[in-house]
Amino acid sequence: MPGLTKASGWGKRMQATTQLETTITAWLAAQQAAMLALLAEVVNIDSGSYDKAGVDAVGARFVRFFHEHGLLTAAEPIEGYGDAIHVRLDEVNANERPILLLGHRDTVFPKGEAARRPFRVEAGRAYGPGVADMKAGLVLNAFVLAAFRRFGGAPAPVIGLITGDEEIATPGSRPIIERVARGARCAFNSEPGRPSGNVVTGRKGGVFMRLEVTGRAAHAGGNFEMGVSAIGELAHKIVATHRLTDLDRGVTVNVGLIKGGQSVNTVAPSAEAEVDLRYVDPADRARVMAALEAIVAEAVVPGTTARLIVRGEFAPLVATPAADALFTAYRAAAADAGLDVHGEFSGGCADSGFTAGVGCPTLCATGAVGGNAHTPEEYMEVGSLVPRAQALALAILRLRPEPG
Ligand SMILES: [Zn+2]
Repeated sequence: MPGLTKASGWGKRMQATTQLETTITAWLAAQQAAMLALLAEVVNIDSGSYDKAGVDAVGARFVRFFHEHGLLTAAEPIEGYGDAIHVRLDEVNANERPILLLGHRDTVFPKGEAARRPFRVEAGRAYGPGVADMKAGLVLNAFVLAAFRRFGGAPAPVIGLITGDEEIATPGSRPIIERVARGARCAFNSEPGRPSGNVVTGRKGGVFMRLEVTGRAAHAGGNFEMGVSAIGELAHKIVATHRLTDLDRGVTVNVGLIKGGQSVNTVAPSAEAEVDLRYVDPADRARVMAALEAIVAEAVVPGTTARLIVRGEFAPLVATPAADALFTAYRAAAADAGLDVHGEFSGGCADSGFTAGVGCPTLCATGAVGGNAHTPEEYMEVGSLVPRAQALALAILRLRPEPG
């Protein structure tokens, strides 16, 4: 094998293209219609995160694709959410650490959404629920896996992992993602490329919590002084909670939902708030969580009690030298696919935080380019599907075999 010169395993290429690179990029270029046909099918299946049947139906469609292309799959059951689907090229048990292509197939949309606004292409953009976030990314990963099955040449085993609960902070598949990432050499997460065409090299971590306050009910006219207002206490706690925001450090604390009380003429016996914490530096997570616990423990309105429940969490995607090197390699490959790609930071969270969190060099948003995710205006740039697939394939082809 030529040139195992860099300990990191990534490095500049000696020649621009090889015969294999030409073969694979040409094959991918010929697949655009097939990619769009598969994308149309999976977009037209509702797969909201809590709709296990729908999420698994999308998984089954991908499994069929993989089997038709000679790949192997294995489902890892997850209770309540879509099963995790593992994909590999063949039975060969290589010693090398694999290259992971990651993606989720659940969406934020309710049942019936696909029937209301099915997949369609208009003026070079594809529309439909989850079209960019991230069914196009999954289609792209699937065709890249199929290309390596067909033509070989990857410097390490290439594997796929398709999960089904990312939009609700990955309650079921997080341990699976972390397990696979621990053994992987690097991970590409095919969330949608930014509208600019950029990929994502850093993401905030997020903690999603419910703050519950309990007081005591009383008639607001008849025996007001017997009551303890949970709403009054929650109001104090919201103000204190919002004070924890520190924009300079990239820390935000947002109370996005509140509810409470029983009737206008009752002192409120209960109230609750949904709290969203975002941070860049893991040290800030510990600091802000401690401050939140202190706010929860201190009752401004005597007689109230409170508790904080973490309902979901994403780890941050933190840049490392190995992840930077992976980005540099991808950027060079993308240039040969005709794309000028830069790295961007995003306040949004994704499963790439979990792969990065266990030390796996990770690049996020290597999927097709799109925008307006989570809205009816969500779109995917049709023209980006093939070049982004080519960029990913070239980046993989040009990784150097690991020493040893
Ligand atoms: Zn997504």
